[in-house]
Amino acid sequence: ANTPKRRYTITLLPGDGIGPEVISVAKNVLNLTGSLEGIEFGFKEMPMGGAALDLTGVPLPEETLSTAKQSDAVLLGAIGGYKWDKNEKHLKPETGLLQLREGLKVFANLRPASVLPQLVDASTLKKEVAEGVDLMVVRELTGGIYFGKPRGFGMNENGEEIGFNTEIYATYEIDRIARVAFETARKRRGKLCSVDKANVLEASMFWRKRVMAIALEYPDVELTHMYVDNAAMQLVRNPKQFDTIVTNNIFGDILSDEASMITGSIGMLPSASLGEAGPGLFEPIHGSAPDIAGQDKANPLATILSAAMLLKYGLGEEEAALRIETAVLDTLSRGFRTGDIYSGENKLVGCKEMGDEVLKSIETEV
Ligand code: ATP
Ligand code: MG
Repeated sequence: ANTPKRRYTITLLPGDGIGPEVISVAKNVLNLTGSLEGIEFGFKEMPMGGAALDLTGVPLPEETLSTAKQSDAVLLGAIGGYKWDKNEKHLKPETGLLQLREGLKVFANLRPASVLPQLVDASTLKKEVAEGVDLMVVRELTGGIYFGKPRGFGMNENGEEIGFNTEIYATYEIDRIARVAFETARKRRGKLCSVDKANVLEASMFWRKRVMAIALEYPDVELTHMYVDNAAMQLVRNPKQFDTIVTNNIFGDILSDEASMITGSIGMLPSASLGEAGPGLFEPIHGSAPDIAGQDKANPLATILSAAMLLKYGLGEEEAALRIETAVLDTLSRGFRTGDIYSGENKLVGCKEMGDEVLKSIETEV
């Protein structure tokens, strides 16, 4: 007898530039993977970013947000482009993305940085250092110094102009990001490194205290702590030592960008943004790449790998996720490369063809 299919609704937000090209490829990958894993996807494609501005006058139409909220997960392409760069703030495509993150209440940003064996040469680091790097940065996204009050400009006692910000973390904010990080580490190699500046900052001392408290719920995960200055250094000196890193908003902003440069290939990097309940938001870390948009040159692998994160972290479909990840590695092993990761002796392909090769790899997987 046929076992019943698991069914999920996915909101697709293609957005601007290369967004529609990479989303269309990722949709095919999800469909094929689903058909082999007993999963049925219902897709709802909605306008967002510059595309939505042109269509409706706002970067995140209400209907797009409500559709996204009602779905099981959201897959976003990319947003923005020259055309809207001079718009007022509330009419910028990027504002729509901030509204979407707010609307979905996603507070945890997951960014893996892996040096795939097939792409070791793309790394900015020496081969011995780069080989085998496979880490994940879990960044707190909605609190900390980027949002803390009081903030602003003013005057000090000497009548000199000043600018100031405040770092505040409440118990619930640290506890929930810590739990996401421990759960993530559990799905990986079971090692978590919490990065802070607890030798100087009270907000960091409190961060460390709460992370240690939550650790009691996860005795199977090995927890270590590192100061952020040391972590920045260790990421280029010996990145292999890391499995999962959890850190606050500002440190995570910096460290996740640093980690992505280790891999040397912006077209390969996915991300996930998760909330407590409700759908997660999954998107490649690259932008809309207006310079290559509409030319079938974009690397779709970052979005395909974002779809794999959607399955793993958004739906708990780990086997389906693994099937996609394995297919990506297989496609690279068979020598297919888009322009951004191309080096001699490989087969240069466009966005669509790269997608077709991944589909072939998925089908031939045992
Ligand atoms: P944003 O400001 O939107 O975050 P950005 O303008 O800093 O993004 P991208 O839009 O990501 O940067 O583009 C940076 C460079 O990387 C461009 O030259 C672009 O063509 C290239 N690039 C980005 N994504 C891809 C991709 N998926 N495949 C190939 N090249 C890409
Ligand atoms: Mg840009």
